[in-house]
Amino acid sequence: MENTGFPKCLKCNQGDLLPLSDFGSQGASIHYKAWVCSNPNCGFNLKIRNGDIYINEPIINGNNRQH
Ligand SMILES: [Zn+2]
Repeated sequence: MENTGFPKCLKCNQGDLLPLSDFGSQGASIHYKAWVCSNPNCGFNLKIRNGDIYINEPIINGNNRQH
């Protein structure tokens, strides 16, 4: 069992939850702002914005790629 140190995804129990960081409007880095499941078939994500937690928002990437 590989231990990455990341919490397991509670939705699919296969992926790890990977912490993502972002930059605030002041340019200060915001660590662990969002968590995303590493399992592409799962897509579970959790975001923290202005103190509120958003779970499973649709993932929108900058390239707006279609699969
Ligand atoms: Zn998952």
